[in-house]
Amino acid sequence: MHGTKSEYTRHVKIEMLNRREYESLLNSGKVNLMDDSYEVNEFLPAPKVLICGRCNRPGHTKKYCQSSAFDICRRCGGDRTNIQAHKSCIVKCHHCGGEHEATSYKCPLISDFRRELIKQLKNHPERLPPQVQLFIPSDYRNKKDGARTIFSSRQYDSGPYQKSVNQNYYDRNDSQARPSVAPAITTDTTSASIQSELNEKIKSLAKRLEDVEKSHAAEKEIINLKYKSHIAAINQAWLLMEQGYEIQRKMISKTNVAVSEIMFDTGLLVTEDIYTTVKNIKTALGSTEFDQTIQ
Ligand SMILES: [Zn+2]
Ligand SMILES: [Zn+2]
Ligand SMILES: [Zn+2]
Repeated sequence: MHGTKSEYTRHVKIEMLNRREYESLLNSGKVNLMDDSYEVNEFLPAPKVLICGRCNRPGHTKKYCQSSAFDICRRCGGDRTNIQAHKSCIVKCHHCGGEHEATSYKCPLISDFRRELIKQLKNHPERLPPQVQLFIPSDYRNKKDGARTIFSSRQYDSGPYQKSVNQNYYDRNDSQARPSVAPAITTDTTSASIQSELNEKIKSLAKRLEDVEKSHAAEKEIINLKYKSHIAAINQAWLLMEQGYEIQRKMISKTNVAVSEIMFDTGLLVTEDIYTTVKNIKTALGSTEFDQTIQ
């Protein structure tokens, strides 16, 4: 692979932060990097051996160490109290005398312990925590047994991690076969759960939209009613004004009539009075002096 230390790197470890991405990548069985497609397999850690920080022996921690009273240098096997003195001391294993550090898997003491540990795990996989799968380094595999992994049988119990089980039935002698890491069920469950999640979301959004539309319609109705009542009020006012105007008009005309009638009547009465008076005077005087005026 380009960009790696040697162009011939066969394995690249990729760490995923997202569980779903991790599963979908394993399910697709392929990853695209720099225009090339690469085969993807689940990374399984090999069993690690607990090694004491004081005596460099496997199987216990420094806190419970009963083998040494001081920290032993893993390089030269001397007293490591003065750390500075052991930065470049000679590498000679204090377990076996070999040219390796005392904590190296090259040391038969560590290696044998690890072999025994793996054997125990193989015989008692139920001692592993559920959901844990361990890769068996080829050195520790039985020649006839193709098993590459140790897994806790407890993981059969329930759902979400069952996918990892399939890898153990991968037939290594079949060149076409590839470990199908996650069975379709898991994928379906995952995508189904995404699907149902989406459906839920769509439903709730649709519901909200409906609510908004309803309240909008109600609001509109209220505005309509207000508008109508407003218009009605204006019409009412207009009508009243018109009526008022009409009444005023009628009053004016009535007044006119009344005034002119009164004027006429009054005029007539006055004339009649004058006529009578003049006639009386004329009779009294016996004169014809005002005849012209009366007529
Ligand atoms: Zn120890
Ligand atoms: Zn040393
Ligand atoms: Zn050694």
